[in-house]
Amino acid sequence: MTEKLSNDFEIRCRDLEENLKEIRFRMEEAALRSGRKPEDVELLAATKTVPVEVINRGIELGLKHIGENKVQELMDKFDSYRETDVQFIGHLQSNKVKYLIGRVSMIQSVDSEKLAAEISRLSIKAGRIMDILVEVNIGREENKSGVMPEALWDLLEKIAPLPGLCVRGLMAIPPFDASKEETRGFFSKMAQYFVDIKSKRIDNVNMDYLSMGMSDDYEDAILCGANLVRVGTALFGPRNYKK
Ligand SMILES: *Cc1c(COP(=O)(O)O)cnc(C)c1O
Repeated sequence: MTEKLSNDFEIRCRDLEENLKEIRFRMEEAALRSGRKPEDVELLAATKTVPVEVINRGIELGLKHIGENKVQELMDKFDSYRETDVQFIGHLQSNKVKYLIGRVSMIQSVDSEKLAAEISRLSIKAGRIMDILVEVNIGREENKSGVMPEALWDLLEKIAPLPGLCVRGLMAIPPFDASKEETRGFFSKMAQYFVDIKSKRIDNVNMDYLSMGMSDDYEDAILCGANLVRVGTALFGPRNYKK
């Protein structure tokens, strides 16, 4: 590494340490305000575009869960990660599932029977059980991943019996252009689904994780009931998509 590069790296890691402290503090406050224990709400670092060295520093600093969005990027980085829990949070095509089996502990973005069936098939083949979350298109946006809210029950009923996978909860990404208030409305709706589904006690459907909230709104998400927040920018700084 040149001196300049290593300086940039050190600055980035120092920022990360500060950011992590602040996010932890704010998560704890929000958890307590929502009547839960701080340890009941988990942080997943959304690491798209973040170099492995920076991610590994984050893991040293105590990050326990990381989430990647793209299969190719995950594959490129996977062998260099420190020992950690890796999850998949991006849009997933069925033909890429094979790359995730044995690498990630949970796929947060399951939104179709076809995708679930492929996860089931390959997990069985590998002698594993994959944890999944069902992604809900809570803003009913066109061209966005996630199952439409009105189709959620039907999808759950279809995928629950599949062997080789276990439904662990729900995930959502509200519309990017929604106001703070609208976003809180979406979070509350998700929390309602979460509670309703939980109360139905469907076999093989566990509502352990409600994954919602990102850099701009993780506190609101926690106040509405999220217990897994996915934070990228607020941890690592703005993303640089150029190489
Ligand atoms: C990028 C990403 C995040 C984190 O977004 P930030 O606004 O950078 O915190 C969370 N969830 C998913 C699915 C993402 O793709």
